[in-house]
Amino acid sequence: MINPGTTPGSGLTRKRPGLPLLASLPSRELSALLTRSGGSPSQAASAAAKVLRHTFRVRPEGLDSPWDQALLRDLGVGAWAHPALLALDARCSLTIAERAPALDGSERLLLATLDGNYVETVLIPAPNRTTVCVSSQVGCARACSFCETGVNGLTRQLDAGEIVDQLRIARLVWGDRLPAIQNVVFMGMGEPFDNLTEVAKATQLLTDDNAFALSRSRVTVSTVGVADKIGPFFESCKAELAVSLNAATDEKRGRIMPVNQRFPLQTLFAELEQHLPRGRRVLFEYVLIGGFNDSPEDARELAKLSARVRSRVNVIPMNPGPDPTLSTPSKSSLDEFVAILVELGVTTLVRRPRGRDVGGACGQLAALRRSR
Ligand code: SF4
Repeated sequence: MINPGTTPGSGLTRKRPGLPLLASLPSRELSALLTRSGGSPSQAASAAAKVLRHTFRVRPEGLDSPWDQALLRDLGVGAWAHPALLALDARCSLTIAERAPALDGSERLLLATLDGNYVETVLIPAPNRTTVCVSSQVGCARACSFCETGVNGLTRQLDAGEIVDQLRIARLVWGDRLPAIQNVVFMGMGEPFDNLTEVAKATQLLTDDNAFALSRSRVTVSTVGVADKIGPFFESCKAELAVSLNAATDEKRGRIMPVNQRFPLQTLFAELEQHLPRGRRVLFEYVLIGGFNDSPEDARELAKLSARVRSRVNVIPMNPGPDPTLSTPSKSSLDEFVAILVELGVTTLVRRPRGRDVGGACGQLAALRRSR
């Protein structure tokens, strides 16, 4: 468990070993690197665009083919840029260790990093679009009591390239199936705000027309409420914000989310009120836990709290997790909870947990692999 007085960050954890990943460099950084390597700003920007298009758009297969000079020449990249590009690792940084398709159509992927760690990525088809849920860290320091990932703490940060490579692999697995992949959510393993620099770079690549070309409104980053990073998030990330709330009083929230000791609800909402850009709204996620936070009083408190900023609420009936005292809510308490929110004017959606038959809670597949 973390010391709630500290903010877990890159300084506290091991970095990925090996050559820098090409896939970790958003357009601006790649152009700057190529400018330092002898190109003019316009030559560098043009070469960066060609390289990004080739890496992320043109070749969904052959993710592990290495660079060579002939390939760079074929792309129309001048010889002046070759040494800098050949010093980057252009291979996909992840491989599929395990695929776990669920009966409901979702598919959980266990992906191995080059240094032998594991992260989970989930493909979630819905009637109109398919969503990919990505991880931002190997493990997590935040120790939420309902989450398997938090049990073993944080191992290391993921590089931006390891985050977007989850989408490269997901596209390969999904192929031409419909509906196409159009959404990415940072709701897998890890707390994205504890790795905000790399997450920001990843969102820049996801929304870059030369890379993944997703609309910003289709990329959502979810935090447990690391309130002092809300301002930096809106300055650096091309994404929408989700906040995992899960209780509407400090007393209850503190019992399941240690982050609440450092950033109680008043602090969290003051930061949201200060930094939420005009016209944007926050998605509040509320994991509904039987007998804990599912009473009519809880629903009324949640309605009052969420009304402080432009928002909508996703209610997620809990998946069984590591804490045996937290249980799935009954259907009647779920229905009543949602009815009260709607009656009080809260835009509310119920999100059914997907993939229950293959370890539907975040981190369960990786935990199983570790225990083997
Ligand atoms: S819910 Fe998210 S922040 Fe909390 S322990 Fe799990 S991965 Fe970390």
